[in-house]
Order: sequence, then C-alpha cells, then structure tokens
Amino acid sequence: MNYSTSPKLLIKASSVWTATGESLAQAALVVEAGKIAAILNHEQCQSLLESEPEATGKLEVIDLPDCVITPGLFNLHTHLDYSQAPAIPENISLFTWMAQLVASTRPWSPLQFAQSALAGAKAAALSGTTYLVDSSYTGQTAEAIAQTGLKGLVGLELFGLDETLAERIFELWQARYQSLTSTASGALKEALQCGQVAITIAPHAPYTVSPTLWAKARDWAASQNLMLTAHLAESQAEYDWIFSQSPELDAYLAKVMPPGPKPFATLLNELTWRGSERSPTKHLEHFGLLDKNLIAAHCVELDTEDKQIFAASKASAALCRRSNERLMTGPATASEFIEAKIKFGFGSDSLASNSDLSMLKEAAAWLPQMTAEQALSLITIKAAEAVNIAEKTGSIEMGKAADLAAFPLSSDFWQNDHDQEAVARKLLECAPNASHLLVDGKFVVYQGKLLADS
Ligand SMILES: [Zn+2]
Repeated sequence: MNYSTSPKLLIKASSVWTATGESLAQAALVVEAGKIAAILNHEQCQSLLESEPEATGKLEVIDLPDCVITPGLFNLHTHLDYSQAPAIPENISLFTWMAQLVASTRPWSPLQFAQSALAGAKAAALSGTTYLVDSSYTGQTAEAIAQTGLKGLVGLELFGLDETLAERIFELWQARYQSLTSTASGALKEALQCGQVAITIAPHAPYTVSPTLWAKARDWAASQNLMLTAHLAESQAEYDWIFSQSPELDAYLAKVMPPGPKPFATLLNELTWRGSERSPTKHLEHFGLLDKNLIAAHCVELDTEDKQIFAASKASAALCRRSNERLMTGPATASEFIEAKIKFGFGSDSLASNSDLSMLKEAAAWLPQMTAEQALSLITIKAAEAVNIAEKTGSIEMGKAADLAAFPLSSDFWQNDHDQEAVARKLLECAPNASHLLVDGKFVVYQGKLLADS
C-alpha cells in the first residue's frame, strides 16, 4: 500500500462537507502533492476514472461508501500530556481539581509525560482531529503531535507572579525552549522545519503570570510571528481574584506555585496590579496584553463590555463547554460570541477534565444552541480563522492542504437523500471515529488504524 499520495489520489464518498457552504452528495476529491487538486461530482468522477483508469497506476482510488468527508477537525485548547493523568472525580470545583491534577502528575518523569502526550495525540487523530492548539509545561506534546503526523501549535507554559523575577523567569523559559528544540527528534525537527508544528509561548493565566512577564511572552511571540495561547476568565474565582480578592484562589496558588525568595503571603500583598476592580479581560487590555495574537481558552466570565473589548482586540477564543460543565464553571454562551463578532472555535481541554478528545462530541455539546453546520464550522473553518491559517487549511477547497477526515455513518442513513444540515447533524449525533485521516495528503489513519502504530 502506498500511503503517500504520489502520484494522485481519488477519494470517493457518500458526501463531502466542504465548510464553505457548498457540499456535494456522491462526490470525490482529488489529492495531489499534499493539496486538494479537485472536487468532483459523480459524473466528473466517472469521467476521470474513464480517462485515467486505476490500472494505469497514475491514480489510486479510495472508495468510502457510507462516509462523509470533512476538513480535518481543529481542537483549539488541550493539554495532551495530561492524557493519562489519574481519573479525578467528576463535578468537583476547578481549583480542587487542579490541585489534585498537579499533585498526581508532579512525580511523573519526562518519559511519562511523553507517553501520556503520545496517547493523547493518537486519540485525537483517531477521532478525526488534524490540528491542535496545546499548552504544555514539558513541551512533550510537540513531539507527540509530530510523531503522530498531525499539525499543531504547542505553547510551552510560563508561570511567575513575582514582577521582580520576571527577567530571570523569562530567561529560564528561553532555556527550556532551546532545550526542547535542540533535543527534538527527527520527526519534530522535520515538522518544525516545514511548519507542520510550531512551538510558542503560553503564559498560563492572568492569576499565575504577572503583567511584566506576560509582556515578555507577548513580545517574544510577536518577534517569532507566532500566536500565543493562555487561559482567560475560566472561573468566578479568577474574576474575583483579579477584580478584588479570592481567598480560595490564594490558597490554591500557595499550594501549587513554586516557592520563591519571599513568603507567598508577602508576594500576594505586593501585587499592585490585582484588586484594581478590573475583570480579567480588562486587566489584560489595561496592560496591552490582549491583541490579535492571543488565543484565550475558556472565556467563561466575560460580560457584555468584556466581549466588546475582546472583539475589538481581534483576539481569538477557544470555548471548552464539556470541560467547563464538568468543573462547574460555565459554559460561555456561544451566541453572544457570534453576536460580538469574536473569532472563536472549540477546545476539549485535557482528558483530565473531559471524557474524550472527540471534537465532534465537543461540537455536539453546543446543539441545539446553533445549527449542526454552524457547530461543525467552529471545529473546521472558523477554528482555522481563529488561528490564522484559514488560507491554507480548515475547508475543502482547491489548492488548500489535503487535511481531511472521513467519518462512517450507517448505510441506512444513506438510503435517503439528506440536505447538508441533516448530514452534519447525523455526524455530530453519532460522532464516530474517523475511518481515514489525511494530513497534507498523507494518511495518518487508514481504515480506522493509526499508521504511526504500524
Ligand atoms: Zn487548559
């Protein structure tokens, strides 16, 4: 089996959902040199097969009856390296959960983080995801994404509240970044070179990163022409902590933040930038940290004014409904994000706060607030727009990267004609694993199996 698409691949399916508003039943795609070379209806497909029969060896035909082909799915917020974290009881508060997560993974070796990240990347691929925005302290997820053959932006996490140490903490971050890139495996080196994977900086959240340190992260990302990713306004406690105070969050931080030269209570008292009656969003805006380069995860606690500020900044949001529900913090109201014209997509957050990494299930969780096609567009083209790569991928259009997922639906369903909304709804309702997944025209999943495993 030739898993590359040289010379030319023809993929036939019951339906092709392009994410451009145009969709075709009984259609086919031609993939050549990693790109979508043509989108064919049934007749065009037949005539191509007559002019270039498979037997000539010029064309490889993959017939996927009962499948719908979509653009590869996007997951705009996750932490793959927590994929094998011990199960933590459902429905406990965010900061109780985070303290348990930190405690349970603190003894992990780098190898355990690497294995956990790889398990997550594989689960993401099997469920049809081709592009991930991930935050990771170890950066092992960059390796996992590259080794699985997916695309992604990995934010190497940054923490530090003490303004006086910002310079030093940033230097240590740069050393971690250098170490990660200089020790990269062959797969990651290649992925970094061709831009399939990028490593950026991830200031963790407004309550764990001082504005001075965050500004260094913002400037570094801008100098590299990269977006950066962070958590924003995930909980009422975060809102209260920035706006005025939150003893709950003080207690959590005292437990998990690495010890510094001064007692933590002293450090908290010195933070002049909190307690200024600003929401987390206004806090970032006040310090010039909210701009078009930011991908902000969660955004649950944004009031109407915050949403206007957020939209004007042209920052992007990653809404994580299922994780927010499990940790009892949200969720955001998607229609308000649409009304405010905020660029956004969906994220799963990690397997430590979600039951799976299926972006179809994540999108299905937003029904019936929106149509199925709208929800599907938020894990394809809208998500690609949110991370500024919609010119290259995120929809099925000629010339775009052949990042594609094929999902099987029951043969009974295809007995009747359906409009595209019905196909999208069925797809979200069933949320099957992908039978085939291609990234830049190369198979990552073939007949339901990961090629990285073979
Ligand atoms: Zn997160």
